Amino acid sequence: MAQYLGVKQHHPDSLLFYRMGDFYELFFEDAVKAAAALDIVLTKRGKHDGEDIQMCGVPVHAAEGYLNRLIRQGFKVAVCEQVEDPAEAKKRGSKSVVKRDVVRVVTPGTLTEDGLLEARSHNYLAALAEAGGAFGLAWVDISTGLFRCQSLTRASLGAALARLDPTEILVPERLLAQPDLFELFAEWKTRLSPMPSARFDSENARLRLQQFHNVAALDAFGSFKRAEIAAAGAILTYVELTQQGKMPRLSHLAQIGQGAVMEIDAATRRNLELTRSLSGERQGSLLATIDRTVTGAGARLLNDWLAAPLTDARAIIARQEAVQHLLDSTNLRSDLRAILRRVPDLERALSRLSLERGGPRDLAAIRDGLAAAAGLRDLFQRSADTMPAALQGAANALGHHAPLIDRLSRALAPELPLLVRDGGFIAKGYLDDLDQLRLLRDDSRQHILALEARYRNAVGVTSLKIKHNNVLGYFVEATTVQADKVKADPAFIHRQTTANATRFTTVELSELEQKINQAADKALAIELNLFAALCGDVLAQALAVSQAASALAEFDVLSALADLAESEDWIRPHVDDSRSFRIEAGRHPVVEAALRRNQSGSFVGNDCDLAPEKRLWLITGPNMAGKSTYLRQNALIAILAQIGSFVPAKSAEIGIVDRLFSRVGAADDLARGRSTFMVEMVETAAILNQAGARALVILDEIGRGTATFDGLSIAWACLEHLHEVNGCRALFATHYHELTSLSARLPALKPHTMKVMEWQGEVKFLHEIGPGAADRSYGIHVAKLAGLPSAAVSRAEQVLATLEKGEQASALTRLADDLPLFSIAAQTPSNLAEPSAVETALAELNPDELTPRAALEELYRLRSLL
Ligand code: ADP
Repeated sequence: MAQYLGVKQHHPDSLLFYRMGDFYELFFEDAVKAAAALDIVLTKRGKHDGEDIQMCGVPVHAAEGYLNRLIRQGFKVAVCEQVEDPAEAKKRGSKSVVKRDVVRVVTPGTLTEDGLLEARSHNYLAALAEAGGAFGLAWVDISTGLFRCQSLTRASLGAALARLDPTEILVPERLLAQPDLFELFAEWKTRLSPMPSARFDSENARLRLQQFHNVAALDAFGSFKRAEIAAAGAILTYVELTQQGKMPRLSHLAQIGQGAVMEIDAATRRNLELTRSLSGERQGSLLATIDRTVTGAGARLLNDWLAAPLTDARAIIARQEAVQHLLDSTNLRSDLRAILRRVPDLERALSRLSLERGGPRDLAAIRDGLAAAAGLRDLFQRSADTMPAALQGAANALGHHAPLIDRLSRALAPELPLLVRDGGFIAKGYLDDLDQLRLLRDDSRQHILALEARYRNAVGVTSLKIKHNNVLGYFVEATTVQADKVKADPAFIHRQTTANATRFTTVELSELEQKINQAADKALAIELNLFAALCGDVLAQALAVSQAASALAEFDVLSALADLAESEDWIRPHVDDSRSFRIEAGRHPVVEAALRRNQSGSFVGNDCDLAPEKRLWLITGPNMAGKSTYLRQNALIAILAQIGSFVPAKSAEIGIVDRLFSRVGAADDLARGRSTFMVEMVETAAILNQAGARALVILDEIGRGTATFDGLSIAWACLEHLHEVNGCRALFATHYHELTSLSARLPALKPHTMKVMEWQGEVKFLHEIGPGAADRSYGIHVAKLAGLPSAAVSRAEQVLATLEKGEQASALTRLADDLPLFSIAAQTPSNLAEPSAVETALAELNPDELTPRAALEELYRLRSLL
């Protein structure tokens, strides 16, 4: 207990997994929390200060699953192992306790095991720091070695965090207390790890980083701001602490320049369902719809690209050229993708090896990944001269690894065990000494069998067996009945008597056993040495291996985008620094895919043109006409164009969008105690305050959450502000048809509407946008479609007719007097309107006169009148 308390004292914030034999045990508060979180039994063991000690435990062999569940519930777990052989402790005296130490603190942001990670998602650990009023954000994925930082303003913090979606965020305690960051931190509450502010000291951080990267000054990697360095340094310290001194391999700290990526705030990302659908799943998101990658690393890179569209037209065009080349070279692409399909997760294998947590299969992953890289290089060498720069760059980064591949191929056995400690992963024929020892070991087993046969004959006991257990080692066993015969032979020395058998040993058997054990031990020792040497070989090439891994991921994404463009019939958008935004027959990729899946009609392509003189579109049209879909599809097309992808349209010209804003849909934010309307206004305020000339804004039904005139006035003012002050490109969907009159005063405001066809009293939505304004809302039509009771529908029609006749405001006050109350009307719906065809027909029926057959026919006829 003294040892336990000593260790626990250093890890007050983590659950302590305390190794005892085949279990990790938890005590005191830790046990209570873990038992509840894991739904396992809480027991007691001994007393401490007169109180029972609460305890629970998980078996070591199944620990990963339990760890996973705890981490997902937001716990950190300090894993405390026995760091010496129990035999050593015994040597020190019978009371002596086995030495134990924490070997690692497992936290959400520092996972490396495949079982705990999602293959197709990043796992970022981020740190936020402030220095001199400026903010710095640094992030690392220790499972892949990526290490980045960015300098930010307070206003852009939310967007940057939303882009990265880190699983853990380190923040200095000092910042937690800042009132203007409350909102932001509330949003990320479950992922924050508060740290003492002293860990964010930028001077210390600079020294740490220099030491870690082994350079005299960081200038070679970029001109970092103090806050960036402070954040990056805090990350290094944290990783060192959680990994207990073992540092993973990390790339050089690289800086994301200000304005290098399209800024998209958290609400917009959510609304547009970029990487997750509104329900929080990957399924149904834009990412899931466009993802054709075939490797985990490729999927992670595509996620990164989609989260951070570029703003540099040249960089975008470079990606487009690569996609185009792969699109045109069908054979090259299919060969490329056939190779990629066999590529294992190089980055994660490399990271585990660098943390000394790797196994034989990680070495095999390196071998296979590098072999695939070599295959790709050959493929691209054939057409090197015609290749666009982006592909050439990636092909060069694949590197040359023949000696390493060769060594790993020769060294590793065809079937590999999961763990190093069991041995058996080095191939036969790789090392003579090892083969000899294995031969000896296996031969000795033959000798045991021979010995058994000989002993049986010698003493004449057919049931005699040579067995093995961990306590006695090898022994001769005979049933109790026949044991006397064995005892009679002086060569057999008695060891043990059990209920139904007697056990013996012989000098010969002991000698043989020793030989077997020695050979097995020696063989294992040799294997372990070889493993360390092979890891050393890999890690010596770590930088080149990780570059090859990045290049493979890039090939995967580029060829996946080419595949997508081909299968979905997408086109290459023209991207430049202008302020144009012209899309011909654009489509919403996710809605289109859903329509196709459900076989519910085909998607109607729609144009959009937000050239400076018509940059603000006011869109009216009934519910269900396709306004939201249209708004979103244009935003998605801008994003897709700026990640270098082709887009779902007939043609497209996009002047770079530097910030994307959206205010669509409405959901109560009950968790933060805000009403729908408050959320709407907060988001609208952010847009009007921040949207610059290069921004793209989509606004859906501003002001809907309040009284009609309130809402209309707010929508009105927003439109004017966007037109006069922001001057950005914007799509503005509204129910307030009155707003169209503003187009007389605002020259760049162009009213558009979703077309509706009325024919014989039926309403059909064409999902097609065109100039003009909607004259009606067709809300009652939609209500009818949705199955509102027919009495309510008729009543609504009546109210509407009255309203449309009179001046709106006065009509409303008059209504209550002039029209019969709904409650009365509802009871006698027939009072309200002319009787329907069915009702008339029913009234005319005389059931007494009908034969059963006629009644049935009548029923059919009535049904057809509906
Ligand atoms: P609104 O925002 O006007 O209420 P939505 O954009 O939500 O309408 O669209 C309603 C439904 O109409 C969508 O779920 C989709 O099935 C269909 N839809 C929308 N746009 C199109 C289109 N361009 N082509 C075909 N169907 C569409």
